[in-house]
Amino acid sequence: MRWRGEAVEQLLLPAECLLCRGLLSFHQSPRLVCDGCRHRWRAVRPPWCARCGQPEPLFGACRLCADWPAALTWVRSAVWLDSGARAAVHALKYRGLPRIADELAAAMAGLDVPGLGTARLVPVPLGPKRRRQRGYNQSERLAGALARQWRRPVVELLARTRETGTQTALTPEARLANVAGAFRTRNAEVGTRNGGTDDGSALRVPRSAFERPLILVDDVMTTGATLAEAARALEQAGARRVAAVTFGRAVIPDFT
Ligand SMILES: [Zn+2]
Ligand SMILES: [Zn+2]
Repeated sequence: MRWRGEAVEQLLLPAECLLCRGLLSFHQSPRLVCDGCRHRWRAVRPPWCARCGQPEPLFGACRLCADWPAALTWVRSAVWLDSGARAAVHALKYRGLPRIADELAAAMAGLDVPGLGTARLVPVPLGPKRRRQRGYNQSERLAGALARQWRRPVVELLARTRETGTQTALTPEARLANVAGAFRTRNAEVGTRNGGTDDGSALRVPRSAFERPLILVDDVMTTGATLAEAARALEQAGARRVAAVTFGRAVIPDFT
């Protein structure tokens, strides 16, 4: 039983914050990240572009989401990816601490996603090689944790068609090119049309799964190129309403 396992873990592990190693006080002890570290996470707040959730440009229309597929209608992130939040994402991705997904999901759970009541969560997939190296997909862990908070199901509708190089330090244009065609859907009827051969996955789903509102879940958004490309694959499979949520949003220095 899950609660019993957690209780034993609490007895065995020193109650310290996963990020700063500070001791957790008694009232914090069910948590993994201390109040101090969580208070360093700076919430993304309006005014923002109604579609992509990016602070509005001083002049003209938002450029960030101008070329996104029509189905991707609403994207928000919980916090700015500055030093405190970066440590949390790093712990989730590189320190092998998938349990911290619960803390990140708690920060995301307040995002007011339109259509949440009937939506399904779709984690952004990793390529098989990256997934093997890490042992898990951090976006799946986040989606699972959010699913528990929102009481909505997770459906793994997407797969990678190829491994993409790291997006770090690429310009917005290079990021788009880097992920172009990187996703395909797992559904039986149209999966092969989206590039890539059918791998006979047991997770193939019927076309009707794409007709409900879908919510993509990822750890970080920078320019939104990955989310846009994932939404494009869902759109080609019949999805009309795709939202997306991420824990962190990177500040794009050259984008104003
Ligand atoms: Zn801490
Ligand atoms: Zn926008």
